[in-house]
Amino acid sequence: MLLTVHKIDPFADTDETLTPSNSEVNDRAENPIDEPTKPASELASSEIDEIHYLVSSRHLMLASPWFRRPLTSDRYIEALKDPSDGRYHIQANGWDEEALLILLNIFHVLTRLTPATVSLEMLAQIVVLVYYYELENAEVMERDTVVWIANVKRTVAIPSSYCRDLMLWICISGVFNMSEEFEKATAVAVKDSTGWIQTLDLPIHQEITSSIEHSRCNALEHIISELHRQLEVYRDFDYFCPNHSYYSFQCGVFLFGALTKYMERWIFLSPRPEQPFLGISLNGIANMVKDMERLQQNHHLNNCCGGGYNQLCNLNSKIGGVIQNALTEVKGLKS
Ligand SMILES: [Zn+2]
Repeated sequence: MLLTVHKIDPFADTDETLTPSNSEVNDRAENPIDEPTKPASELASSEIDEIHYLVSSRHLMLASPWFRRPLTSDRYIEALKDPSDGRYHIQANGWDEEALLILLNIFHVLTRLTPATVSLEMLAQIVVLVYYYELENAEVMERDTVVWIANVKRTVAIPSSYCRDLMLWICISGVFNMSEEFEKATAVAVKDSTGWIQTLDLPIHQEITSSIEHSRCNALEHIISELHRQLEVYRDFDYFCPNHSYYSFQCGVFLFGALTKYMERWIFLSPRPEQPFLGISLNGIANMVKDMERLQQNHHLNNCCGGGYNQLCNLNSKIGGVIQNALTEVKGLKS
């Protein structure tokens, strides 16, 4: 076993021991939306490390209510010094080594060792600790987090697809009350996710993931219901063409046939997709409609009358309008 010791306080009375885990934010193997950034060999070695942070219990207690509880109550074994080394011992599992070092350096006012900027990934790792150690409103963290957040906002764009970085943004913006980023990032998740939201063990409340899933399902239900309703309109033998009443029958035949074919192609026809609409995203539907527009442009049968009335009875504009309206209605969550 590899031991690493960080001597943060030369007069340390506390040994915080970290056992890194492969099941926290770093668990990259089991998350389909995850993007591995570390080689497997590196992960394997980190699994057996034990990392000691030699710190001052006073600084821990001043900074964090979480540390105050075990260190000030006889009910906790952590409140008793180990006679072998005269120190308090606190265990930690699964945290990122560097993130915990940054946090403890801040607690001990080691400002020169505190980075001026951190990556989105590191900020998320720190947020995990901020949440766990109840530091959301901690004065000691305030200055650095404000600077880090400003830098990340300036340098890292919120992704336009549902991916690992998007979940990091949702986590960071949720914990630090960044309302604009939170709304934007959750809107992307509503539009681009295809099922249950994976939190990657980040501190993202179930209320948030449930709201994202709820909004996505509502919008999909609306679109699929509208498509089926429109199909029934065209299917009606007495369908009336608002543009050329003389061609009403031909128009209904064309639009009913075309929409049936597309809905079958999109697997929306039978069986009709139902909640939770696994595998379907709103962005995916928008792309299907673009695909439909492209296909129909290649043929000249855009409308009921065979090409002479391009602006009339166009399936693209009708269906495209339904999808576009539904997407416009989709909003991100308010923090
Ligand atoms: Zn028509």
